[in-house]
This record gives sequence, structure tokens and C-alpha cells, in this order.
Amino acid sequence: MSIISKDISKAVALLNSEELVAIPTETVYGLAGNIYSEKAIKSIFETKQRPLFNPLIVHIPSVEYLSKIVEYIPEKAKLLAEAFWPGPITLVLKKKNSIPDIITADKDTVAVRIPNHSLTLELLNNLSFPLAAPSANPFSSISPTTAQHVENYFKDNIKMVLDGGACKSGIESTIIGFENEEPVIYRLGSTPIEAIEDVVGKIEIKNKKEISPEAPGMLERHYAPKTKTILTSNLSKSIEEYSNKRIGILVFNDVLNDDAIEFKVVLSESKNLEEAAFKLYDALHQLDKQDLDIIIAEKLPDYGLGKSINDRLKRATK
Ligand code: AMP
Ligand code: MG
Repeated sequence: MSIISKDISKAVALLNSEELVAIPTETVYGLAGNIYSEKAIKSIFETKQRPLFNPLIVHIPSVEYLSKIVEYIPEKAKLLAEAFWPGPITLVLKKKNSIPDIITADKDTVAVRIPNHSLTLELLNNLSFPLAAPSANPFSSISPTTAQHVENYFKDNIKMVLDGGACKSGIESTIIGFENEEPVIYRLGSTPIEAIEDVVGKIEIKNKKEISPEAPGMLERHYAPKTKTILTSNLSKSIEEYSNKRIGILVFNDVLNDDAIEFKVVLSESKNLEEAAFKLYDALHQLDKQDLDIIIAEKLPDYGLGKSINDRLKRATK
């Protein structure tokens, strides 16, 4: 029997019994458990085979709830929360002692956000605890953006996927930390950097080596298909290079027709970056199923969500 269901009360009952439920958000599906249940949180790490040094994002129902999770809220964090929550921005702030160390990988900061999905907000409002929810995929594989992707990964190793349709934004949240009160981008994501700068001014992007310990979204290989994948700015040249192989291509809006291509996914005929982000992971899931020798992905324009998509594609090629 399928584990996919729309039954919120069943999800509430499972979470109250320290079980896991995969939940829909506007970014990707999350594998959720009670942040205060050691059993549930250990089970998240085991099910995903996620290394314990990777901290989890805590999902809360309201801005008011934030003060139960964190010790201190810098002014610019308040501005960002007001501007973007519920929405795909995660704030990393000084944690309260009550937040278990396993959630934060022993760090003194915790990552937190309010997801913008009506079913999951209803779920959170019916629980007496927040949910830790990393993406509902085995560690380092392509993130799931539909309930079916989650079921394909975990079969009956989890009890339920709450079906909230296809995730609207399609790539993970933008993660922002604070250093001396100033926001810093730790991971590019669904909220474009330009929108963030409109609220808090110029913001720095830190690369992985500057953040310690390593954060999973920062790992070089992440979001990766099983099929060898390359990222290119010169599509025709790359296709020529691999002309004796079974090639799949992932393009922004191209109308290229080439007999050498076995399978093609176009992200947005009208060159719309939001549409491209929405389709990205499903496209990679599809390409990965075609028994190809190589996936050739075309680099997108390097601004707005294009920057975030290029970040994911780069990690998919490692
Ligand atoms: P995922 O939920 O799978 O998208 O991964 C969670 C992301 O949250 C990772 O990329 C981590 O980098 C980030 N994260 C969680 N907690 C912290 C923290 N305390 N400091 C920095 N990054 C964090
Ligand atoms: Mg993930």
C-alpha cells in the first residue's frame, strides 16, 4: 500500500508518537520529526544516512515562536523574518539551551524557518513542538519535489508522506547566518540574493571553507544524480565531445535539435527562472532514470534564481 496520504490527523498522530512523516514545503519535501524526541531525530539521520555533523533546520509555525528557539534576534534578522516568512529563507541564530545538540551538530547556533505551505503550516499549528526536517532524500542525492519522489526513495521505510502536491519553489531555502549583527549568505537558495539585498543592503556570500563545521548544503557533492553529470557554457561543444555516448541534456530554453541527443529536458521555454527552479529537481530525477552515459547541463544566467540553480548544478557534477 502507498505511504502517500493527505490525512493531516494521521500525520499529527505519527509525529506525536515520535515517528517520522515526510512533509511538503514550498522548497522541497522534508523528512520531519519532533525536535525534542531523541528517537525521532536519530531516526531522521539513520533513514537519510546523513552524517551527524550536518545540522538540521527547525520549522516553526509563527514569528512569535522564534523566541522559544533562539536566545537573541539581531535587528536585520527581524527585518528578514518580517519580509520573507513564511517563505524560503532560513536564519541561523544563537540557540536556546533547550534545543538538543543533535539538532545543531553541537553548534551554539540553530537554523530556523517558517515554511510557506498551507498543509504544513496547519500541521505545525496542530503540534506542541517544532519539526526538524532536512530534505526527504538519501544523503547527497537529488532532493524530492513531489510525494512520489519521496516514496520512490524510501518505500515503506517511512510510515507516511503528507501529500501537498509539487513544491512550488523547487530548490532549498536560502540560508543566512549572522556575524557581528550582519547577515551573511551560507547557502544560495529559493530567495534570490537581490531580494534579500533590497531588505538588508549588500550581503556577502561565504563559501564552504569559511564555514565550520561543514554544512551539508555546502558540501561539494550534493543534489547529485547517479549518472555522470557535467555543467557547460558551450552546449554544442560539449555535445560534440561526447558524441559517441548516450547523452541527456538539461537546458534553460534551448530549442536545439541534435540526433546525438537521447533525451532532453527544457526548464523554461519562456526563460523564466522561477519556472526553471520549480522544474529543476524533477528534470534531474527524469534524466537519471533514462540509462544515459552522461547528463550535460547548460549553465543558466548567473543572476537571481539562476545563481542558485547554477550552485545546485555545480554540486550535482562533483
Ligand atoms: P537540508 O535541510 O537538507 O537542506 O540541510 C540543512 C541545511 O541547514 C544545511 O545545508 C546546513 O548548512 C544548514 N544549517 C543547519 N544548521 C546550521 C547551523 N547551525 N549553522 C550553519 N548552517 C546550518
Ligand atoms: Mg538536503
